[in-house]
Amino acid sequence: MSTSTPSDQPRASVLVINSGSSSIKYQLVTPDDGRAVASGLVEQIGESTGAVKHVAHGVTTRRELPVPDHAEGLRIVLGLFEEIGPDLSAAHVVAVGHRVVQGGARFDGPVRVDAKVERDIDELSPLAPLHNPANLTGIRVAQALLPDVPHVAVFDTAFFHHLPAAAATYAIDIEVATKYRVRRYGAHGTSHQYVSDKVARVLGRPLEELNQIVLHLGNGASASAVRGGVAVETSMGMTPLEGLVMGTRSGDLDPAVLFHLHRNAGMSVEELDDLLNRRSGIKGLSGVNDFRALHELVEKGDAGARLALDVYLHRLRKYVGAYYAVLGGVDVITFTAGVGENDDVVRAGALCGLEGMGIVIDHERNAGRKSEPTVISADGSRVTVMVVPTNEELAIARQSVEVVGA
Ligand code: ADP
Repeated sequence: MSTSTPSDQPRASVLVINSGSSSIKYQLVTPDDGRAVASGLVEQIGESTGAVKHVAHGVTTRRELPVPDHAEGLRIVLGLFEEIGPDLSAAHVVAVGHRVVQGGARFDGPVRVDAKVERDIDELSPLAPLHNPANLTGIRVAQALLPDVPHVAVFDTAFFHHLPAAAATYAIDIEVATKYRVRRYGAHGTSHQYVSDKVARVLGRPLEELNQIVLHLGNGASASAVRGGVAVETSMGMTPLEGLVMGTRSGDLDPAVLFHLHRNAGMSVEELDDLLNRRSGIKGLSGVNDFRALHELVEKGDAGARLALDVYLHRLRKYVGAYYAVLGGVDVITFTAGVGENDDVVRAGALCGLEGMGIVIDHERNAGRKSEPTVISADGSRVTVMVVPTNEELAIARQSVEVVGA
């Protein structure tokens, strides 16, 4: 007689892969309890020495070795699962979920990968030249190494696929925009969707009744306006460069700045791309892009760091005001991601002076880092302000399970 009970059965798990141009991030997730059973990172792919980190059973294993390409990187990862665990063949892996940055007008939700989906992701590469080719490489390599498991693509843009035309359309020659697919696609959609759903559940209120602003503040940063669980506006644009001030990206600026720098500084398209994506934002203004380092500089009286923080907070406050108007009133404002979850100075600074709009922070509740969903507004605040840690890997795992019907 078998003594096994349902709790002895291995839980279904999903291997989530986020493949970048020179890195592969991965997590083995059990979607029903939301646990990350193992996680890791392969970096410096294609350089003379690569770095691999694998975390499992509470133990971190590090290796330094050349990783010539993504295929070798993933082979090393699978080798670490075999050597250190957990044993993938016993983990009941029901899907491999891939993060894909740009789904264009084609994808409004997760899909099982087939040859057509691969072609479409490839075809969307001009809209995300830094990301889609790397995402596709990850998909192809993983399919070759794990051919018996269904692979699912989860798009960063999907949550914003149905933005109202008034929010998605840039006011340029419509023929040019249509021909070259220039419109607002947004990004970080998996996080904005996960967090706005979670807010409703934590507050015990119907998602359909809530007007929300979500502020995803990580190295990249974006804001969204969500009405009844549906995104109606977001700050990232055709690419993740528009909107809020970020770690190394400028966010909004007058497009004529580019003409000016091209004409007067002789900067090429590549140099302008590098300037706005890698030498701007907090880093461009202060020399550092990590908020912990920024605060240290501010405390030492560094004027550049103070200005960087002020510009960052001013932009955030401006977006909160704009989205308040877009929604016609707000029930909940939520901070998430590395800065949003950890930085109480940024949270308080972004919303200070908005008491007239019914937004009042309770400074004791706001203090410190938050690893759990937390209300940080005062009892009398008309708008509820929260911190909700994001979990894009779990969201990708859950969407993957839904797609494959496991
Ligand atoms: P991404 O996923 O975009 O790389 P994260 O969401 O992980 O970024 O956020 C990373 C950023 O979070 C760091 O660059 C840093 O500025 C910020 N951060 C992390 N920990 C803290 C902390 N304790 N206090 C303030 N900022 C923090």
